[in-house]
Amino acid sequence: MQLFRAAVFHTPTNPFLVDIGARLALVCHEDGGLLVHHGRVAACGDYGEILEANPGVSTVDWRGGFILPGFVDAHVHFPQVRIIGGMGRTLLDWLDEVALPEEARMASREYAADTARLFLRALASHGTTTALVFGSHFADATAELFEAAFTSGLRVASGLVLSDRLLRPELHVAPDRAHSESTMLIDRYHKRGRLLYAVTPRFAYSTTEAMLEVCQQLMSDRPDLLLQTHINENTAEIGEVTRLFPWAGDYLAIYERYRLSGKRSVMAHNVHATSSEIDRLADAGTAVAHCPGSNAALGSGFFPLRRHLGAGVTCALGTDVGGGLGFGLLKEGLQAYLMQRLAPDPQGLDAARLLYMATHAGAEALGLQTEIGDFQTGKAADFVYLRPPPGSVLDAAVRHAADPPQALAALFTLGGSESVREVRVEGDIVFAADHAAALREQT
Ligand SMILES: [Zn+2]
Repeated sequence: MQLFRAAVFHTPTNPFLVDIGARLALVCHEDGGLLVHHGRVAACGDYGEILEANPGVSTVDWRGGFILPGFVDAHVHFPQVRIIGGMGRTLLDWLDEVALPEEARMASREYAADTARLFLRALASHGTTTALVFGSHFADATAELFEAAFTSGLRVASGLVLSDRLLRPELHVAPDRAHSESTMLIDRYHKRGRLLYAVTPRFAYSTTEAMLEVCQQLMSDRPDLLLQTHINENTAEIGEVTRLFPWAGDYLAIYERYRLSGKRSVMAHNVHATSSEIDRLADAGTAVAHCPGSNAALGSGFFPLRRHLGAGVTCALGTDVGGGLGFGLLKEGLQAYLMQRLAPDPQGLDAARLLYMATHAGAEALGLQTEIGDFQTGKAADFVYLRPPPGSVLDAAVRHAADPPQALAALFTLGGSESVREVRVEGDIVFAADHAAALREQT
């Protein structure tokens, strides 16, 4: 049993629902304690009270730092880690000129393995403990991601990316091969340790009806798989999809026809959504991964967050690396806040709501809300220990903060990987800044 002492924040209730205001949904313990026993949260509260109830327990003294639930990245592409920062393009051009040439390089198993290790280090070093990840179009490369994820100790849901048209020929697979390769990966990796499998049609644009049927088959064969895809990201894309599926009333209708919308599904973007689509997503229980950095960088548009939340759609945050701005859910939260400040139909956001979107909502999107997302007793001890570098502006800002919510707002505004000191999943260390520094010195 270990008791971690720091300022502790979490959002066990939904700050978008409470009438009393978002600030009260933020649970904070300024001199807090997180008691961990066999990888689970045994208690979360004021340090003194927990110590009194558990005399003699060993304390890890992180005073001056902050403990938050591990972040959940609900949408991110592992093969794109090296191409972050492609400026000046919109979705379809960016895919052709920047993303897909790099994704084609994953044909080399060695290159893919290297990329997977880099990718997982990046997640952990930014405090992300759970991620829903687009794999590669190549089965061997996707297997390398799963192997590296298993070794890393992170919770990773991923899958072979399926496409059979309009990308590059080397990224296309025939539907029957997509089925057999997906099945092989599901058998090998789904529920191995902390891994989960997500059926991953890239988007309706690059999948024929035969491929969508394969996805439907995979989902109906295994009722515990997840599904991830893209929807309504960019107006040119939507125009093409409308042309390719003339029978569909809207983008979502394509996925609905193959029963790909539902409680196990996470759809990224949905920037240009009709009211009917939002209502149907809510009815089906489909979650949306909101990727504000990517939406801005690719000029995709303003996500109608307010309309989604109003209808009852779970909205998690995704970094969408490499269309997005990089790793880190603090930065992604800030970007969500900034875009909503400027959006035509803005949704008010604050630190509590950002924390909720970066943790609890992500857990819900992946169906893991009983396991992770906050520090309720019995949940897995997945957490990040943040401490601003001494002398940094963030250090000054959190010390100067009028109250804990203000300190959390400063973390979202200024916090990055340089403030991540240690990250744990089920109590196991998956990243430690001190170890990382020691390793860098050795090499
Ligand atoms: Zn994406």
